[in-house]
Amino acid sequence: MRVLITGGAGFIGSHLADTYLERGDEVLVLDDLSTGRIDNIRHLKNHPRFDYTIDSVHNRPVVAELVDQCDVVFHLAAAVGVKLIVESPVSTIETNVHGTEVVLAQAAKKGKKVLIASTSEVYGLSNQLPFREDGNLVMGASTKGRWSYACSKAIDEFLALAYYRERGLPTIIVRLFNTVGPRQTGRYGMVIPTFVKQALERRPITVYGDGSQSRCFGYVGDVVGALVELMDHPGAVGEVFNIGSNEEVSIGELAEMIKIMTRSSSEIVQVPYDQAYEAGFEDMPRRIPDITKVNGLIGFRPTVPLDVILARVIEFYRQRSHERGSIKSPSHEEPASARA
Ligand code: UDP
Repeated sequence: MRVLITGGAGFIGSHLADTYLERGDEVLVLDDLSTGRIDNIRHLKNHPRFDYTIDSVHNRPVVAELVDQCDVVFHLAAAVGVKLIVESPVSTIETNVHGTEVVLAQAAKKGKKVLIASTSEVYGLSNQLPFREDGNLVMGASTKGRWSYACSKAIDEFLALAYYRERGLPTIIVRLFNTVGPRQTGRYGMVIPTFVKQALERRPITVYGDGSQSRCFGYVGDVVGALVELMDHPGAVGEVFNIGSNEEVSIGELAEMIKIMTRSSSEIVQVPYDQAYEAGFEDMPRRIPDITKVNGLIGFRPTVPLDVILARVIEFYRQRSHERGSIKSPSHEEPASARA
């Protein structure tokens, strides 16, 4: 099979590329390197079944050509990270809405199956926990920049389902919950890489708000495995699936775990949301997926617990920092267990 991955130089896309190459398939990547990094695919550059194009999903002829060459499309190219979204709402909306329009239109011309990566952000301010795929999506006010991301992704979902129902294009939608693992960068605000870097560099660990908000962190390997199985399963077409872990942790507790596991002397500080993001910023207090649907179809179950995920991310950042020489006085020890 020949697989096209838009956003394939990103954190999740590059892991997906690895998985398909390990399976013996061919991988084409399209990425404009806006948030993706060539470092994520450097190890694949000379692979005989791998090819990449540095260009944008807005570039219709390029997308048309790549869609033509592949059998299936994973559309992962999107603006990511709450910080980036709050700071650059125009490109967020344009990338998420126009980019997806281009990909779906080209896939429809050629009749190629498409999986669209959506997000748990679409549940917005809903308090119907755990979030089910058929639950209401509750958006905040349009004056609050954060919700532009949720709305743009909700439009992507509507569009993908419309192509399926009206034009018969096989589309699959996945709502990815907080996904973490090696290669994820903290540059766009994601909490685990941010805390791990802060702890390793002995800078203050910045908990936004009072730290009582919680999240469930899923391991990228588990998530990518589910994407591959959904793409293979005929029953996934025309459906929406939550993918993530249901192991809940508060952000305050997460900061403590990372501090202990890195044996860091960093102070844990609280930063008000309006300083961290923008005035009037609204966070989601809890975000838990109901994964009954994806479990029922493909038997998906998260296999990597949070402390193991953290150990892997810490190891990744330690290695990278050693290569770059950016940690002041690193410990070579294994991360301590935060739950011992
Ligand atoms: N967060 C934090 N400190 C940081 C970055 C994020 O306390 O340096 C919080 C953020 O406010 C949110 C949670 O961690 O409550 C998860 O943030 P992230 O951006 O990783 O993902 P989100 O769930 O917001 O999409």
